[in-house]
Amino acid sequence: MRRKIVAGNWKMNMRFSEADDLLTLILDDIENKGIPEHVDVVVCPPALYLELATDMALGKPLLVGAQNVGAYESGAYTGEISAGMLESVEVDYCIIGHSERRQYFYESNADLAKKTDILLKHGIIPIFCCGELLDDREDDMHMEVVSTQLEEGLFHLEESDFSKVLIAYEPVWAIGTGKTATPEQAQEMHAFIRALVAKKYSKQIADECLILYGGSCNAGNAKELFSQEDVDGGLIGGASLKVEDFATIIRSA
Ligand code: PEP
Repeated sequence: MRRKIVAGNWKMNMRFSEADDLLTLILDDIENKGIPEHVDVVVCPPALYLELATDMALGKPLLVGAQNVGAYESGAYTGEISAGMLESVEVDYCIIGHSERRQYFYESNADLAKKTDILLKHGIIPIFCCGELLDDREDDMHMEVVSTQLEEGLFHLEESDFSKVLIAYEPVWAIGTGKTATPEQAQEMHAFIRALVAKKYSKQIADECLILYGGSCNAGNAKELFSQEDVDGGLIGGASLKVEDFATIIRSA
């Protein structure tokens, strides 16, 4: 059985003391109530709080991810944070290609291919986001859009590197909108992605590949989404900022 991952994307929210409080509450919850043996829990706070998070999570069943990484090793890239810097504060994962980065910061699949490579070089697991716009779905182009994102952003990897990556399917029309994909829509796309991976690599790699769902996943709908055969957990935005909701989602996996 594949493991399940529940990852919280905090986006650009919270001041330092609030982040500290939320981490404390999540760790208390995990310590007091435990987490299912087959589940890994990840929090992705803003970059400024990553070191706080990795320090607090040390030796605890909580993993830490960044929300973005620079595409270059080091140098004159004002404002960027490198994969080496993330590695140096012991970050485990990094979200890349979130639709907000694609939309507001014009990240292309080619940029994401570079980011994937540099993260893997530094031992950080990319959480590669893909997903279609509402127009794409209405035009029945959603499969094609996701297929191109994977082809151009991820499928250049050798099998040994690809097997380290997580994929997050996040239909853009579902992110932060309260409009979740139905379990059937999520399952259909996840099965499609797994079939693409099998075609590109192998059935074994596809069977082992973890594919998370993201997009208005919450305490009320997580269980049904996560019970779909090809849904291996979730990337959670808004609901990851409330400990009770996040805790319920963790235990729905
Ligand atoms: C996200 O930002 O990755 C996300 C899924 O957001 P939300 O859960 O708020 O839709």
